[in-house]
Amino acid sequence: MIIPLHFHIGGNMLTVNGRGKRLAVATLTTVFLYGCGGGEINVDPPAPVVDYSKHKALVIGVDGMQYEKLQEAIAAGQAPNLARFHLAKTYGGGIVGSVTEQVTSSGASWTTILTGVWANRHKVTSNDDRFRNQADSVFKLIKDADARRRTASIVSWNTINNNFARDIDLRHITHAEKCSEDDQCVADKVSGLLVFGDVDFVFAHFDDVDNVGHSVGFVPAYQAAIQSTDARIGQVLAALQRRQQNHPDEDWLIIVTPDHGRSLPGGFGHGSQTLSEKTTFIATNKEANAQFNSPFKDPADMAFNGLYGNATQADIVPTVLTHLGVKPDVPNYRIDGVPLLGQPSVRQLTARADDEARSVTLQWRNSGQPSGKPLTIYRDGKQIAQLDDAATTYIDQGLGVPDGVAELNYSVVLDQIPVAYLARINAGKPAQVNP
Ligand SMILES: [Zn+2]
Repeated sequence: MIIPLHFHIGGNMLTVNGRGKRLAVATLTTVFLYGCGGGEINVDPPAPVVDYSKHKALVIGVDGMQYEKLQEAIAAGQAPNLARFHLAKTYGGGIVGSVTEQVTSSGASWTTILTGVWANRHKVTSNDDRFRNQADSVFKLIKDADARRRTASIVSWNTINNNFARDIDLRHITHAEKCSEDDQCVADKVSGLLVFGDVDFVFAHFDDVDNVGHSVGFVPAYQAAIQSTDARIGQVLAALQRRQQNHPDEDWLIIVTPDHGRSLPGGFGHGSQTLSEKTTFIATNKEANAQFNSPFKDPADMAFNGLYGNATQADIVPTVLTHLGVKPDVPNYRIDGVPLLGQPSVRQLTARADDEARSVTLQWRNSGQPSGKPLTIYRDGKQIAQLDDAATTYIDQGLGVPDGVAELNYSVVLDQIPVAYLARINAGKPAQVNP
């Protein structure tokens, strides 16, 4: 007996039998060929079915690694492994003065990197390890889409796994390890898991670079810490290569990213809103889209020399989910980031609430030329507007919210790819505009 399995991953809902999707396609083709009864047969081959179960992702965190100092290390030949990746400037800490603003500290930043949302949703607002992430994590979203997927979080700074303790308790993280500031432990455990383990998503966190920065700042020892971290990344990549000898059909997305930059001039600290502390990077093995490769030179907010035109650390989770074929829940989408693979959808989404008028103005930018495609807007799961892709703004008026503070989740959707923003309104508060 064949029991159909419904996969909730991939671009479409797929129904396959226990022997796999490829068999289903081959059978269909055969029926076509014999059905035509000979003669000249010109059958278009069916579009290749992506087997997302072979799509996997590795996110490597390099705590406190400064973008410019990494570039120096690459130029000096001290980071040969990271030199092989596509590298782009990104930012952390949200947008200053908006609801997304958060400290450029590790707790808030790693939680953004593992949820795709800012602290107004995830609620990890400092490095206090009693905080528990309040948003859906990448681990949960992967497991919800396919319970057979296996995930891991192996960290040098134990607080990260404390912030995600609920995901560990609920087995959204199937393999959790705390290495207690021993980066070689992280490299060894991750390498072992990649060579011998059954795993679909791995988060690995290294902390030496940040620790050296805090104790001695930007001196040759800091560059040496970048060099030794690059070597540990090399160890992990070699393990992944060994794995691929046994699993040549697997397709791995690799992303390397820090949580924050460092304060100038010394490079000792971080946590504040300065260009240097907000500047981060994403390094990836994949060809990424315009959100990664073509930053806007003229973002609506030109603070920090136009830094906000770049991709953000919130873009990592939607990128991982896109690669793994996890289908977004479009009306209820609650991720702030933009996928860096495939279509980027709309970019630069912001919402500005007018407390007195009880309205919210949404603004966004489009990547390509408008072509009349529908663009749909949802508020808290309900469709409120359908525009076309030439539109870049929408005013949600006459909100029936009571006096006081309310949060409204907006999802703007183009080509089935959503981006979300959690607006905050303080209705009835006269003559003040909250971003
Ligand atoms: Zn630090």
